[in-house]
Amino acid sequence: MSDTDFFEEGALVGVLTTQPLDRVLDYKAPAGGCWKGAFVEVPLGPRKVLGVVWGKGRGDWDISKVRSVMRVLDVAPMREEMRAFVEKSAHYTLTSLPAMLRLATRAPGLSDPPSMRKVYRMGEGTPDRVTEARTRVMETLKEYGGLSFTLKELSEMASVTSSVVKGLVKQGVVAEENAPRDTPFPKMQPDYGAKDLTLEQDEAAEKLRVGIESQSYGTTLLRGVTGSGKTEVYLEAIADCLKIGRQALVLLPEIALTAEFLTRIEARFGAKPAEWHSGVTMTERRRIWKMVGQGGAQVVIGARSALFLPFQNLGLIVVDEEHDTSYKQDDGVLYNARDMAVLRASLCGARVVLASATPSLESWANADAGKYERVELNSRFGPAVLPDMRVIDMRNEKLPASTWISPTLQAAVKDRMAKGEQSLLFINRRGYAPVTVCRACGEQIGCDHCDASMVEHRFQNRLLCHQCGESKPMPEACPSCGVEGKLAPVGPGVERLAEEAQSHFPDARLAVLSSDLFGSARALKEGIRAIADGGADIIIGTQLVAKGHNFPMLTLVGVIDADLGLQGSDLRAAERTFQLMRQVAGRAGRSERKGAAYLQSFQPEHPVIRAILAGDEEGFWQAEAGERRQAGVPPYGRMAGIILSSPDVQSVFDLGNALARNDGALRQIGAQVFGPAPAPIARVRGRHRVRLLVKAEKTVPLQNAISKWIGQFPLKGDIRLSVDIDPQSFY
Ligand code: ADP
Ligand code: ZN
Repeated sequence: MSDTDFFEEGALVGVLTTQPLDRVLDYKAPAGGCWKGAFVEVPLGPRKVLGVVWGKGRGDWDISKVRSVMRVLDVAPMREEMRAFVEKSAHYTLTSLPAMLRLATRAPGLSDPPSMRKVYRMGEGTPDRVTEARTRVMETLKEYGGLSFTLKELSEMASVTSSVVKGLVKQGVVAEENAPRDTPFPKMQPDYGAKDLTLEQDEAAEKLRVGIESQSYGTTLLRGVTGSGKTEVYLEAIADCLKIGRQALVLLPEIALTAEFLTRIEARFGAKPAEWHSGVTMTERRRIWKMVGQGGAQVVIGARSALFLPFQNLGLIVVDEEHDTSYKQDDGVLYNARDMAVLRASLCGARVVLASATPSLESWANADAGKYERVELNSRFGPAVLPDMRVIDMRNEKLPASTWISPTLQAAVKDRMAKGEQSLLFINRRGYAPVTVCRACGEQIGCDHCDASMVEHRFQNRLLCHQCGESKPMPEACPSCGVEGKLAPVGPGVERLAEEAQSHFPDARLAVLSSDLFGSARALKEGIRAIADGGADIIIGTQLVAKGHNFPMLTLVGVIDADLGLQGSDLRAAERTFQLMRQVAGRAGRSERKGAAYLQSFQPEHPVIRAILAGDEEGFWQAEAGERRQAGVPPYGRMAGIILSSPDVQSVFDLGNALARNDGALRQIGAQVFGPAPAPIARVRGRHRVRLLVKAEKTVPLQNAISKWIGQFPLKGDIRLSVDIDPQSFY
């Protein structure tokens, strides 16, 4: 930091707060002065609020009314690169600076003084009387040398009650002292648990190493078939990053995956990394936030919001399963963590590794254009080989009504059961049946608050809205005509498929894997482990099973409805189907036995289905890229979705029409606006939703134009407006 970044007492500083105000506020620097970037507490009306010294004050405020900064907090100041990241990401996503700063300060109690807690270690004294329990406490402490523990940790490790420990404290056998609560994370050892890489893996790791050591920005698309050792390769990159004293961040799409993953990191580096996601306790969040800023946490494994942690010296961001749609936040601040990772790294001279077996078209196109380096792993590690893919042409199969498992697929499952192997039947639909209709009046049961049908969940005996979560007991009589006993399920969900499978294979042990059937992440983890250990013959699963889990006995994957994702108007429908089918198929044959994947389809000649079967990824991407280029849509053009919502349908349409008519700011950059039209789901939680779509060429200043455009109409009443840059879903 240069001297010009220091403000003497009384100098005017501009402070960005986390409050929803549209400007940086002027304050006077406190006694002792403050640095640019300092986290401070400032008065705002009658309150104290958190803020960051953003720069010089503007001085356009009556100086006699300017108040002083109350206190500079005892945390590392926000670094220049982080301030730039907050500003640029706010601009990119058209989010206000305060909202972005809130994301960057999502740790409670930042303004509290460093808090202390009592810890216990070996003392000097000898006990008056030796009991079995006391001996266990002393031996535990001896075993761990000079380390100290909390009361809870120590009594649990020694299996004694806390009063035993307290008794020893009284006699000076155990020493009790105060220690800061926010302690550094254990050191990671780059060479601990390193594996011998295969030639192909080694070459990939070497390419990444060159990048890391350059300490300059660059992005690599690490593409490798499932089980090829992508994770092993990027663990090497993390090791290289640690060796040069920089920090590493790994983003994962699913919390459920982290437990298994943390163990893997620990086995590789000899210590647990910091773990950041919504399930982490408040005190642990605060510890991570502070330690990351002081360099007391070297590796963070986290959900997308970990990108906003104040890293002291970030050298590497890995985005695992980079194609995963959950990287796009879809409420609150709308940002895509993959894109923001690239932005963040470019501002601090770090590397990005985007890992996937089935990259997003965006990343593929960036690699194709030479913007990203491309590293490939083409063979599976060890004896595992890629599964055989084939299609079952459903037009030629004879199936009774309301059944979905074709005779061909049934025969294949029977064959695996005879060999003691596992099969997976995949359907991407939770619940029993997606639609319930009344056979008397034709009414389809819908949600009271959304334009969506209620989905029957038979295990719970309830109807559930997958939009808003509303649920109600399954009624006896039709809510519309009142006739009893005429409600009928239409179409399959995972539960209904399980019922059918049980009827075909009465002796099979079935396991249903669907996110709503497990009470907790832990229960889910245990369920998955039991299956991996051979506790089921047939797994019936939703999208949940497509991600990362390793079932060694699984040799057959049957996709019940491979056409499902191809319907609908989503621009990424083909890409999503391609990715999902390849991921699911990748579950088969992950160890010695060769796997097979069968896709049930009514349109086997569809180009996407053909590309999946042929395994011609390059061909698929080329074709898909060609179509998108032609249509001028992402990644070759830019789009932004504008969603207006209100309980009052008239007012949203009025505003939508006003926006569409007054589109001068957009026309200036050659952008077009479409709509307003009812959003595909036109009502959610009682709010009517209308959307406009903006399309522009890739290189135009879209964000500026959109701010100007929507700025013409200040929002009135209960209307909400949200802008979604590069929308991923169109609901
Ligand atoms: P991916 O991330 O590409 O799906 P992983 O890195 O998870 O692949 O590797 C698949 C399995 O193979 C893992 O159990 C991993 O530990 C093992 N594996 C991969 N490469 C090696 C290696 N070089 N030495 C030992 N085990 C390896
Ligand atoms: Zn609903």
